[in-house]
Amino acid sequence: MKDISCKLLVIGAGPGGYVCAIRAGQLGIDTVIVEAGKPGGTCLNVGCIPSKALIHAAEEYDRIVHLANGRNPLGIRTTKPELDLSQTIAWKDVIVGRLNSGVSGLLKKAKVKIVQGHARFRDGKTVEVETETGRQIIRAENVVIATGSAPVELPNLPFGGPVISSTEALALTSVPERLVVVGGGYIGLELGTAFAKMGAKVTVVEAQPRILPQYDAELTRPVAKRLQALGIEVMTGAKAMGLAKAGGTLLVEAGDGSEKSLAADKILVTVGRRPVTQEWGLDELVLDMDGPFIRIDERCQTSMRGIYAIGDVTGEPMLAHRAMAQGEMTAEIIAGHKRAWDKRSIPAVCFTDPEVVTVGLSPEDARRTEVDVKVGQFPFSANGRAMTKLAEDGFIRAVARADNHLVLGIQAVGQGVSELAAAFVLALEMGARLEDIAGTIHAHPTQGEAFQEATLKALGQELHI
Ligand code: FAD
Ligand code: NAD
Repeated sequence: MKDISCKLLVIGAGPGGYVCAIRAGQLGIDTVIVEAGKPGGTCLNVGCIPSKALIHAAEEYDRIVHLANGRNPLGIRTTKPELDLSQTIAWKDVIVGRLNSGVSGLLKKAKVKIVQGHARFRDGKTVEVETETGRQIIRAENVVIATGSAPVELPNLPFGGPVISSTEALALTSVPERLVVVGGGYIGLELGTAFAKMGAKVTVVEAQPRILPQYDAELTRPVAKRLQALGIEVMTGAKAMGLAKAGGTLLVEAGDGSEKSLAADKILVTVGRRPVTQEWGLDELVLDMDGPFIRIDERCQTSMRGIYAIGDVTGEPMLAHRAMAQGEMTAEIIAGHKRAWDKRSIPAVCFTDPEVVTVGLSPEDARRTEVDVKVGQFPFSANGRAMTKLAEDGFIRAVARADNHLVLGIQAVGQGVSELAAAFVLALEMGARLEDIAGTIHAHPTQGEAFQEATLKALGQELHI
């Protein structure tokens, strides 16, 4: 097989890698991308997109179940629905397939050469790829490492048999009767909630004193309340110890130190993700590390000239939109543009029920920076649109500097608030002050009005509360 020489080689076609390659191709850079699996990486194949498809199907099913039980106030009556999870999964697979082809098409349109196979560094400028038709050598002036992340395995609860990761959970063709979720973070709660809505008896085992420990307690309270309403048992301060000898039972050390046995058909372990830094020849390079992650500077440059790293392999937050933004920036840097990471905020959205959005600093974070802050919070229970959607739980909160009213952070919890993330992050990126948001006409009736009201509240000028 003839060796390939190029200006840019990207390893990994997840959101970081494929966006980097597309932008580089658009800028006229001779670019090759290597992918061992399918284009789109974790996010498109076994992460963001399939999980949101499953969450949507579960929400629809749950909504109809509630309409059918006659207890809804809307006056709608229907008969009990049925769920065919294998068909749901097939529908999800069609969406994933369409997006796989879409990413390949965009790469081709940008004249990026796609090499299918597993890449491994020989040295800082040379990579060998095991392809279906043999070994391909690629020499590149610049290399972008975008190898992503993989699920963390607990030593006492290795994956296999009933113990599954999110990847297997997103491919189940029948709803497990009893599902134990170990880890009450993003994935555990998003998928745990979906399976509970589809009819599984779900128990969440979380090591920390509360679920979603990365968010403040006020923000997660409506989520905890809804978990309870869905019949999900949440054990906090609890540790999974391993499977009982008989199998099908998880032994757990509960918060009070007692030992509990949880019978389970499936045990979904979602205790975080680890960067993929193995099996691609890290030892052939001299890269500075940042704990388990590859250390990068504000230009995504590693400690080796000509080698960049982006996405999950470079650290938290492990989010697709961060990887994409790093990918786009790195391509421009390689093309000679003057760029550096200057984002004010990376939004985070948790697609629980209700959804949670955060951008920038929470009131507690802001106070830690020793600036005086103004905080305004507006509940959805006082928002007309939320009432018409039976979505009164939750609120929007704005945090700003007390002296000049510069907005430092915005948080929301409520049904459908994920779509407000765009407005929130734009406000932060544009350096908005409370008056800018308060003085913007927000369409009525929308849940977005609660954003304007939160800023009015922070200014002491609230109108609707
Ligand atoms: P990845 O998407 O992990 O892609 C890395 C790619 O590199 C893979 O395709 C892999 O096959 C390839 N690769 C690795 N090593 C090699 C090699 N040696 N040779 C060739 N190819 C290689 N994030 C969000 O922002 N929003 C969400 O809603 C969201 N939901 C999620 C739900 C789940 C269940 C999971 C698991 C994750 C979710 N994430 C979400 C996180 C998101 O998927 C990641 O942050 C994102 O995919 C990271 O992109 P990346 O490009 O860094 O790496
Ligand atoms: P996570 O970090 O969100 O949550 C892991 C949870 O497991 C934590 O609450 C932690 O306290 C708990 N935990 C750790 N060890 C434990 C143990 N031994 N027993 C019980 N609990 C334990 O991790 P995740 O849910 O696996 O998700 C991984 C990453 O994927 C996230 O950090 C996020 O970056 C990304 N993701 C994002 C989204 C989104 O943006 N909506 C959705 C899913 C995943």
